Amino acid sequence: MAASSSPHALLVQQPLRPSSPLPCKQALLVAPLRRKTRLSTISCTAVRSPPVSPSVATGRIFNFAAGPATLPESVILKAQAELYNYHGSGMSIMEMSHRGKEFDAVIKKAESDLRLLLGISDDYAVLFLQGGATTQFSAVPLNLCAPGDSADFVVTGSWSDKAFKEAQKFCKANLIWSGKSEKYTKIPAFDGLEQNPDAKFLHICGNETIHGVEFKNYPSPSNKNALLVADMSSNFCSKPVDVSKFGLIYAGAQKNVGPSGVTIAIVRKDLIGNAQPITPVMLDYKIHADSASLYNTPPCFAIYICALVFEDLLEQGGLAGVEKKNQKKAGILYDTIDESNGYYVCPVEKSVRSLMNVPFTLKKSDLEKKFIEEAAKEGMVQLKGHRSVGGVRASIYNAMPFAGVEKLVAFMKDFQARHP
Ligand code: PMP
Repeated sequence: MAASSSPHALLVQQPLRPSSPLPCKQALLVAPLRRKTRLSTISCTAVRSPPVSPSVATGRIFNFAAGPATLPESVILKAQAELYNYHGSGMSIMEMSHRGKEFDAVIKKAESDLRLLLGISDDYAVLFLQGGATTQFSAVPLNLCAPGDSADFVVTGSWSDKAFKEAQKFCKANLIWSGKSEKYTKIPAFDGLEQNPDAKFLHICGNETIHGVEFKNYPSPSNKNALLVADMSSNFCSKPVDVSKFGLIYAGAQKNVGPSGVTIAIVRKDLIGNAQPITPVMLDYKIHADSASLYNTPPCFAIYICALVFEDLLEQGGLAGVEKKNQKKAGILYDTIDESNGYYVCPVEKSVRSLMNVPFTLKKSDLEKKFIEEAAKEGMVQLKGHRSVGGVRASIYNAMPFAGVEKLVAFMKDFQARHP
């Protein structure tokens, strides 16, 4: 078969002849490979060739979604470049066996880079799981409690409330603090927390994605095993964390570290192996720890993207620097809100405002729809607050560039001036 007519011809990656224009779709597929060689060889009039500066000319916009959320452009471009023919294997990472050498290297690197980023010791297992963080709401009590055991829950927003309610099916879940009556705008003082000494663990949500409330430090559990468990879905890898303070950390990937489809659990090894007998295999940490997250087919592509994100975070110098960037971004946004003379209002107590999710309302709430629509026209999308609370929410995860937040605050000031 002539090379040019074979579907695999593009994999050969020979220098391309200027005289052989590709069909448009194919031109897009190989564009990242060609950029490295000879950009001038792409001759397709219907589709502009992907430019070198992606945010300017490819139409990528500032995406303030709460999750799935914006990912680093460098990661998207690397995934695009590697997609068609992963490392010369002749297929994409989505098409290959999860037990083959290529994917084995990917999942191992994802784990070792995450261990480096968070300083995770060998006392902890790192698991790549499925079912979202929501599945962990049941997996946690199933793995850490016998049915009659009690566990303490601090409820600072919708997500910890969901965790608390699900846990009631599998253990005796105690609500030891709730911020509901104050519309989830606070984190409790730890001194006043009345914990149950026989509770198997104390559960918190490190960052409430909907309400924008974030723990800045962590309570010490007073239970026998001093076991703190945290849902860190929406602030995972946004700052350094002392993992040794936790028995278990879990996080859905789709905010800071990847696409939806994979949930990461960091579990102290001595806690593994005591799951309740009714625990489904897919929820049993021992099954996944014993098989290095390969008990069944894992979400390969999602894990691959996480690996690229971890690599990118390490290349940026690690999480201390990432936290500084996040503080700077959140800082200009909260300042704009606070200096608006009440035009914009963030209800969250200042000391616990989230660096990741910034909810706010407009004093004239009837202008909120217009605000969100006008922002979208200017290339800033997904600013609508969660359907349960309304208002506006800007999610500014690691991958949101400083320029995106600068553009948003400029827009906010201009909008205020135009609609006094
Ligand atoms: N916890 C938090 C803090 C979240 O933000 C979310 C999702 N937005 C969840 C849990 C649920 O995650 P999933 O949709 O992956 O089940």
